[in-house]
Amino acid sequence: MERSDYPSAQGQLTQLKSDYQVEVLADWGDGGGEWQPGTWTKAELDKLHNQIVLMAGFMGGNEKFAQNLGGVTVRKADMGSHSGEAVAHHVSLSTRGTFSAWTVVHEFAHAWDAACGWRLSRRLEKYTRGYTSPLLSYMKRLARLSDSGFLDAENKPGRYGRKPGCNRAGYFYGDRPSGSNWSFNRVEDFAESVTMYMSWGRGNDLSNWAEARIKRYLLANGTSDKNFGTDNWTDYAKYFYPENGDYTKTRRWQFVDELLNGRMEIR
Ligand SMILES: [Zn+2]
Repeated sequence: MERSDYPSAQGQLTQLKSDYQVEVLADWGDGGGEWQPGTWTKAELDKLHNQIVLMAGFMGGNEKFAQNLGGVTVRKADMGSHSGEAVAHHVSLSTRGTFSAWTVVHEFAHAWDAACGWRLSRRLEKYTRGYTSPLLSYMKRLARLSDSGFLDAENKPGRYGRKPGCNRAGYFYGDRPSGSNWSFNRVEDFAESVTMYMSWGRGNDLSNWAEARIKRYLLANGTSDKNFGTDNWTDYAKYFYPENGDYTKTRRWQFVDELLNGRMEIR
């Protein structure tokens, strides 16, 4: 944070707190007359702010956002390879490089789920007709029906562990998520589903990324994608590519729509 941005950044912190009950732990400041820049940039604070405004809009306003998440403290932290982490009322964003707008929404979706005792992701799992079974996952790997190694994903096309149940959690996702990998589980599914819902076809900061996530399955097997690397994309289309390429046709889009528009009881 530049010293010249200090006044407007302070104003933003006050606003985030009063409008959304979001408290950003500032690591910048004027410590004894000497300016401490910290790890945040003004652009990052703006990015965080903008995505919170976006989420609140989908939730039906500031108060609803504050009510759903029950207050959130945001801090920067070094979390190794993770770009963000979240539990109830706490979101951490990586100090290693910058974070994306996508990460902000994804982590706040986790915080929302967590504040509801992780019930939202359970509801999503059920709604999409998915299930979690480490035993069936084990058997699938034993029978060599898995697109992963036996104990972990392999770092090569067609072996990243994207098929249903081929992940650490034994999560057999239902319907068509926008992607899956070895870390996928119902909690990640919920966070990605919320983020996809708020981006798909909306013309906002996240929309290009949402579109790229779906369009990659139109690529030929072995094609390298600039964002997602190389994989056997065509083979995976049947698991992830929505009907007519329209993500709003998926059950998880419907689920988030019902959840956000009050057609589903949350607590
Ligand atoms: Zn996540």
